[in-house]
Amino acid sequence: MKKVVFKILGIVIVATMLLQTVAIAASTSELKSEKSDNQEKINDAKDELSDVQEQKSNTQEEINNLDSQIADYESQINELDTKIADLNTQIEESQKKLDEAQAQYDENKKLAEERLVTMQESGDTSYLDFILSSDSVTDLISSYYLATELAQADTELLDGLEEERQAVEEAKTELENNKAELDNSRTSKESATAQLQVLKEEKNTEVAKLSEDEKTIQAQIDELTEANKTIDQQIKEAEARIAAANKNNGSSGGSGSGASAGAPSGSANLGNVSSSGFIMPVPAAYDTITTGMYYSSGAYHGAVDFGSGGINGQPIFAVADGTVIISTRVRGSYGNYIIIRHDNGLYTLYAHGQDGSRTVESGDRVSQGQQIMRVGSTGNSTGPHLHFEVRTSPGNYSNRVNPRNHLP
Ligand SMILES: [Zn+2]
Repeated sequence: MKKVVFKILGIVIVATMLLQTVAIAASTSELKSEKSDNQEKINDAKDELSDVQEQKSNTQEEINNLDSQIADYESQINELDTKIADLNTQIEESQKKLDEAQAQYDENKKLAEERLVTMQESGDTSYLDFILSSDSVTDLISSYYLATELAQADTELLDGLEEERQAVEEAKTELENNKAELDNSRTSKESATAQLQVLKEEKNTEVAKLSEDEKTIQAQIDELTEANKTIDQQIKEAEARIAAANKNNGSSGGSGSGASAGAPSGSANLGNVSSSGFIMPVPAAYDTITTGMYYSSGAYHGAVDFGSGGINGQPIFAVADGTVIISTRVRGSYGNYIIIRHDNGLYTLYAHGQDGSRTVESGDRVSQGQQIMRVGSTGNSTGPHLHFEVRTSPGNYSNRVNPRNHLP
């Protein structure tokens, strides 16, 4: 009788636990889909961000071009300023010469007029007297010629001065024309510069706006990334509850077959997720790291090894969702190995797997916890172990980082 009661009680407890597990699993899958929605939004935002950044750098380049054009115009304007100043000096000098020529002309004209007046006056008062006062006819003739020659010389001198004055004036006019031309050129260059400045201002405004956009988008990305971290934490907690529930189920139904006793050790521990979003690549019973980034000899290893006793043939799991980029077998070295590219930008490498145990091909999409290979000792290996690497880019040993920083 007692036995029956215990049996019923046992069934009820197991059923309740199963229901709980199902409920947790359902909420976990909701969280995961929310997380992947967020990831999609993050990817979109990143695309948008790189568009904005490209636009910004293009505009900045345009501004630099405008700057160099403006600088070019400004140096041309400076040159023109120098030339204009030079012309102004020349114009002043020629004005001085012109004034001098004018003054000399005026002076000589005045003297000539005075002489003429004197002659006329003497003529007027007594032309006859002038002639009669001469001592001789010869005297008279020479006086007459003297007067005529004087008048002639005066006229020639005045003509010469006038020509000189005109030449100076022409030279001055030419200088003034040159200066006017340069002034025009300067004005048009100045207005071109002003237009370029306006354009530059517009571009600067554009850059400022793009920088604002950039900040906004980056804030969105940060927010979504933060949200996903919270979701990761929630998933981790939920999966820990599932694992705990499974463990309890296992122990309460412990009288079962030997095969079921080995089962938990053979499955991925989805409840234990690192901040990088990775789980352990081997079952919990074998997840002890037996060799770190350096061998005991001090030589660089660049990976961690999982080499606990009994690990041979145990499943190897993808530590996170991703895409297989290499799944192959090489002689020596890694033996059977797989590289997966994850959505967070990291790459993981799994080496020395058993022959014939690789279950994924290059290009396959894998999900976290999916079995991809079994632990073996192919390639350069002295015993069954998983050699596990994390890389920041796929093809270079120098891009290997310490997996301990990314594993739970
Ligand atoms: Zn190794």
